[in-house]
Amino acid sequence: MTIDLHTHSSVSDGTESPADLVRAAAAAGLEVVALTDHDTTAGWDEAVVAAEDTGIGLVRGIEVSTRYRGEGVHLLAYLPDRDDPALRAELDRIVAGREDRVPAMLARLRDLGIPVTEEALAEVSPDNQVTGRPHVADLLVRLGAVHDRDEAFARYLYDGGPAFVDRYAADLVTMLGLVTGAGGVAVVAHPWGRASAGVLDEAAFTDLAAAGLGGIEVDHLDHDRRARAGLRTIAGRLGLVVTGSSDHHGAGKTGHDLGSETTDRAQLDRILERAAALGSPTGLAGGRGR
Ligand code: AMP
Ligand code: ZN
Ligand code: FE
Ligand code: FE
Repeated sequence: MTIDLHTHSSVSDGTESPADLVRAAAAAGLEVVALTDHDTTAGWDEAVVAAEDTGIGLVRGIEVSTRYRGEGVHLLAYLPDRDDPALRAELDRIVAGREDRVPAMLARLRDLGIPVTEEALAEVSPDNQVTGRPHVADLLVRLGAVHDRDEAFARYLYDGGPAFVDRYAADLVTMLGLVTGAGGVAVVAHPWGRASAGVLDEAAFTDLAAAGLGGIEVDHLDHDRRARAGLRTIAGRLGLVVTGSSDHHGAGKTGHDLGSETTDRAQLDRILERAAALGSPTGLAGGRGR
């Protein structure tokens, strides 16, 4: 059984609509897929309809932008109640922070001689509900300033880069409380990937588990074999769920095809059980005939 628990649609910085993403996952033979757009649940309803049509199982999730000891940490929240007022308020604050920084990023690029505008940025990703650096990267591609997203990040948009502007992110421990309070299961995404590698050691995971963390995303392209072995050991010691995912972004990122990294069924079952125990109103959608 192929289970992929972390993907992005055009509602955030992926390139396929939520329905197209779910249909592609079903066509690829996946049995369960999670839609985890950055900081938003805007794609959920469309994804549910496509999951019911195709019979694939859908886990409704969010990849939440958080901060821990000064470093950015992406937190996957599976099956939370999206109407929970406290969770919603914090997600709204994160999304507002994303939008607030856009003019400053574009101004920096104009200072560098690249004629970017907010209008052109909006045209790059008409369905997007949460602007991120990948959208700015796509605009730079469209203007011919760079060849692809990777080059846009390498030259302009990397953390601390010439067009980088920081933004609000939720405190990780606070967000763990909000996610679990909303019945969701919290799993740290790619903890030893780009940004968060330095701060998330075993002692940190011990504290986070006590604060409500449910799992660790271990099998992710950003992790080499050693990182995976180390994270698996920590998860085992702390009784945390182990997940894997493609972190698919459609055409926006190469090497992240749907189902390229997967989660074991037993681990998904632990997530579903934990969500039910936390009072989640949001079970697995679709999944007809399984
Ligand atoms: P933001 O959400 O605006 O902070 O942008 C961060 C997002 O950009 C991450 O979630 C990644 O998906 C993406 N990203 C980060 N670095 C790169 C890169 N070098 N190439 C392509 N995408 C990247
Ligand atoms: Zn992304
Ligand atoms: Fe991420
Ligand atoms: Fe992601």
